[in-house]
Amino acid sequence: MRARAYKGLLAAVTAVSAMALPVVSATSAGASATPDPTAFSRTVKAPAVKRHLQKFQEIADANGGTRASGTPGYDASVAYVADRLRRAGYRVTLQEFEFPFFREITATTMSRVAPAAKTYTRMTDFRIMTYSGSGTVTAPVQAVDVTIPPSETPNSSTSGCEASDFAGFTPGNIALMQRGTCNFQVKAENAQAAGAKGVIIFNEGQPGEGANDRRVLLNGNLNAPTTNIPVVGTTYAVGQELAAPGTTVTLSAQTEGDPQRKTHNVLAESRWGAADKIVMLGAHLDSVTEGPGINDNGSGSAGILETAIRVGNLPTRNKLRFAFWGAEELGLLGSEHYVANLSAEEKAKIKLYLNFDMIGSPNYTFGIYDGDDSDGVGSPAGPAGSDKIEKTFEKYFRLVRQPYTGTDFTGRSDYGPFIEVGIPAGGLFTGAEGIKTEAEAAKFGGEAGVAYDKCYHQECDTIANINDKALAVNSGAIAFAALTYAYSPSLPGGGTPGTNTPGTGGGGLDHGHDHDHTGELS
Ligand SMILES: [Zn+2]
Repeated sequence: MRARAYKGLLAAVTAVSAMALPVVSATSAGASATPDPTAFSRTVKAPAVKRHLQKFQEIADANGGTRASGTPGYDASVAYVADRLRRAGYRVTLQEFEFPFFREITATTMSRVAPAAKTYTRMTDFRIMTYSGSGTVTAPVQAVDVTIPPSETPNSSTSGCEASDFAGFTPGNIALMQRGTCNFQVKAENAQAAGAKGVIIFNEGQPGEGANDRRVLLNGNLNAPTTNIPVVGTTYAVGQELAAPGTTVTLSAQTEGDPQRKTHNVLAESRWGAADKIVMLGAHLDSVTEGPGINDNGSGSAGILETAIRVGNLPTRNKLRFAFWGAEELGLLGSEHYVANLSAEEKAKIKLYLNFDMIGSPNYTFGIYDGDDSDGVGSPAGPAGSDKIEKTFEKYFRLVRQPYTGTDFTGRSDYGPFIEVGIPAGGLFTGAEGIKTEAEAAKFGGEAGVAYDKCYHQECDTIANINDKALAVNSGAIAFAALTYAYSPSLPGGGTPGTNTPGTGGGGLDHGHDHDHTGELS
């Protein structure tokens, strides 16, 4: 994204400018004509949104199959989006920030040499931890203060948390540790300091529902690329197996880590509207390094981009601001950087934030962030006003006669940093790696027992991984909400600095999505 976007011409206001006649009511009095959100939503058309997705696919194809922050595919995505926004009349700025970059260059392998040869399966039995170092090592596995079977209390193992755990450790061995009370980074650094040539951290072992099941594959990350040995996470079963005496393993990882790589957020400010009443929409523009990220999150990016283009010529009452975030996939880093650098005054001007992260999942549901916690599931309600935003989206789905459902307001996408500082938020989500239930299949169609997006965070998240109906309906929902708030005389957020009440909804503490990075906590 270091590629500067071109200074574009202001978009010519053409006669075919879709919104002029049907959207603005001719009967309204003069300049204060209030457009109809439903009519406007029909001007944000799925084929146009799909063309942006096609462009993102071409960008990925030309850049090694990824649009991850810190890669040329991201920079090209930034250039494309910024150019389109400038041509639509927006003042576009690229906000630079540094983040720790990571990618797995070749697929990590792990196999047992002794007592009997066995090959473990990447992404099933084990996976590289984000920010792992590189290396190939064949060495005895040495368990470090592990508890097998696990204690009854989850998150109780202190395996590898203290340097003293390594008192009897043989340098050159592979350290086998158990998930527990301390950060993976601490375990890996202690192991490296003790001379370990590789690190295997297995899940702690307690059964549980969903994210509380500590037997499943551990998807963890270190905090930064500071270790120079391979570090992988495994299932509890694999850890238990490798703890057997006389076990030797070959571990091979080739990674790239850069503690301070530069990337950018794209911010586009409308020419219209009151500068102290900002309606903000955002989507993360980056993909994971493993794939082109067309559903996650080309879809949300394309949806808000097309909305921005269509609304660009409308003299709105309030000011629209569109954000395309970088480095979401490594922990909401772009949106966190943005919010952290807002003054109290600037924060108070942002009356609401709407987030769109995955809106075209192939086996979709129409999920609306549960801003008022009416579902009583998971995280509590967002900041006051989030409830109103949820209702605005519900109104749209009723108007177009489509079913909808709540999706827990976890703060695990780019709205997290906003609700943390008390800005009301809302948004849409069609589902990631979670499994569709029978009830959802009855309501939305699609296949029960199958992931909402079976290509989530994979190479196959291509233009073929989009459900066109979901994309069309949700693009309309974005447009409907954007226009509703662009003209609303009363906005969900508080009026003056300090009046916002920080939400309690899990904001930003756990990074990634609704569905990722379980490991970072401990
Ligand atoms: Zn995403």
